[in-house]
Amino acid sequence: MPSPAANAPAAPREKSAPQKAMEKLGLRRDIDLALHLPLRYEDETRITPIAAARDGDAVQVEGVMRDCRIELRPRRQLVARLADDSGELTLRFLNFYPNHQKTLAAGQRVRVRGEVRHGFFGREMVHPHFKGVEPGAPLAQALTPVYPTSAQLPQAYLRKAVASALHRAPLDELLPPGTVPTGLPPLREALMRLHHPAPGLALAALEDRSHPAWQRLKFEELLAQQLSQLMARAQRGAQAAPRLVAQQGGLVDRLLAVLPFQLTGAQRRVVEEIAQDLARPREHDAADAADAADATHATPMNRLLQGDVGSGKTVVAALAAAVAIDCGWQCALMAPTEILAEQHFRKLVQWLEPLGIGIAWLTGSRKGKGRKEMLARVASGEAGLVVGTHAVIQDDVHFARLGLAIVDEQHRFGVAQRLALREKLHASSGDASAPGSAVLEPHLLMMSATPIPRTLAMTYYADLDVSTIDELPPGRTPVLTKVFADDKREMVVANIAAEVAKGRQVYWVCPLIEESEKLDLENATATHQRLADALPGQAVGLLHGRMPAAEKAAVMAEFSEGRMAVLVATTVIEVGVDVPNASLMVIEHAERFGLSQLHQLRGRVGRGAVASVCVLLYQGPLSPTGKDRLRAMAETTDGFEIARRDLEIRGPGEFMGARQSGDALLRFADLNEDAPLLALAREQAPRLLRQHPTAAQAHVARWLDSRAEFLKA
Ligand code: ADP
Ligand code: MG
Repeated sequence: MPSPAANAPAAPREKSAPQKAMEKLGLRRDIDLALHLPLRYEDETRITPIAAARDGDAVQVEGVMRDCRIELRPRRQLVARLADDSGELTLRFLNFYPNHQKTLAAGQRVRVRGEVRHGFFGREMVHPHFKGVEPGAPLAQALTPVYPTSAQLPQAYLRKAVASALHRAPLDELLPPGTVPTGLPPLREALMRLHHPAPGLALAALEDRSHPAWQRLKFEELLAQQLSQLMARAQRGAQAAPRLVAQQGGLVDRLLAVLPFQLTGAQRRVVEEIAQDLARPREHDAADAADAADATHATPMNRLLQGDVGSGKTVVAALAAAVAIDCGWQCALMAPTEILAEQHFRKLVQWLEPLGIGIAWLTGSRKGKGRKEMLARVASGEAGLVVGTHAVIQDDVHFARLGLAIVDEQHRFGVAQRLALREKLHASSGDASAPGSAVLEPHLLMMSATPIPRTLAMTYYADLDVSTIDELPPGRTPVLTKVFADDKREMVVANIAAEVAKGRQVYWVCPLIEESEKLDLENATATHQRLADALPGQAVGLLHGRMPAAEKAAVMAEFSEGRMAVLVATTVIEVGVDVPNASLMVIEHAERFGLSQLHQLRGRVGRGAVASVCVLLYQGPLSPTGKDRLRAMAETTDGFEIARRDLEIRGPGEFMGARQSGDALLRFADLNEDAPLLALAREQAPRLLRQHPTAAQAHVARWLDSRAEFLKA
């Protein structure tokens, strides 16, 4: 009698570990696998005579085993000797199994692949690949591809998966003639060649990606990226936002009148650029309406305001908010940390409350009754301005009439948070009261102190208008940066004492790395104690992310009001904190920070007229990129130059904070090297979209799939 299980319907098959690992790498569709290109190749198409292989060469050799034995000195290992007509080579294995000894037994013919070098036993290969062969066994016909992979995904499994997907994937040409630059092969041919290059093909050209097959792939990728940006722009053009026009003698003018300073020329220019976006009637409304001045809708603004640390972006945000509020709409201002949100809140209260504007304050730590009250003020529209962390976009927050959203330090929000913000904005936008009228989108203004290099702005952010504050408020002295090894600590502490004696304030920054948070915290606490001991009679405070929000705020307030001389802090102070009397910053373990992070931190000093110094203490030995970063910091204070070098040191994927391979937006093209291809893609994309919209859609779908969403963030 059959067991009941035998008749039960087959359970859905569990995905194997390598399958799951493939999905994690974004390799779901056949086309994804076909577009997963080799990092490099192994040459199994020929045999190199042992004597002709030089040290450091990765080669395949073939010969007959002379002997094979286990040595116990200098440690237990399998040592075998292989000979061909030209010479001899030692093969060495620190881990080995009975199978090794069988295949490599004296008298066996084997084919071995590995790197030749000089070792304990003379010329040798350590842990080479090997297989037993018959005399005259055929060689591989094409170079063997080596793919980027992960620990859970064996190279051989991936190789097979790619090879079979490559035959199934629809690789027909989607692009109409005249789109692809002349001289580049069809897509199918390019892919076949890159996955399985024929022997004798110029390996160097393949590996440095200058080969026409590579050029074809890079062009395709850049074109897809440009197209998706143009599509996003068109989509936005179809939407409507409230048209916000600043009134003569209105809130903006009244705010300008109470500010304790004059705007710089650059600030005036960007305020004007933003005002024009907010006030520009939608194109088809302008055409329809008898008088464009009466139009009530605008195209939603999508603008990035970039300006180096200290260039004065906050006041620009306040002025933009004033335009919206004056027209009867609400503005939300989001900052990445509570400290920063609170600082904005204080400043904006000081500027705007006297003008009669209600301001609400929302952060994660504000709970219970206080939060309820705030939510009510937001929902009723009584709060014209809502300031906070990402708590501002939580589900229970409902705006009465959200007209403008401002995101400060937008690059500090993760890709997922930026997407959530967009969705929330879309859902929570304002006035649907007029019957038959479409729901309006709010305008979006993003701010960043990490300037985007021009090439990146052109590609990643083709759907973004960019305003730049390229001038610092008057009277600033550039920060002097000094780099010291950690053993100069005593001297640095002496400098702190001198600075404090002059009535100045000092930051001491300790790194906080997630994996070793506890250790780092101990380190920060110890540093705090040591500085307190070294500076008797001075207030030395400690600030770190684990402290309750109220305590953090209290410490921050003491420092910003000048009652605390030295603030030892983890990177919670990194963004936006503004204490003009602070003139010295010491960054401990500077080698552990990224370049843009160091630049942000340094931006906390040099905000007043006093000459300021930033000391970077490092613990050697430095890695080459660590050295590059510290050198860049010492050589320049220009945020644009820093961003350029950061891009150079890290590459664009990481620059955008998308570290996982699946999120990296450009996999193949390099914005510096491939500028000519980028120019061609920029030229072709608008034409393609106009003349062949279906082909354009299909091309984007083929290339981007799930990535398309990320491109909007
Ligand atoms: P960031 O661009 O880094 O966000 P902030 O907006 O915090 O810079 O401004 C830095 C400091 O400069 C603040 O103290 C701010 O009040 C001040 N500030 C801004 N604009 C001007 C100006 N035009 N003249 C003088 N000080 C200014
Ligand atoms: Mg700021």
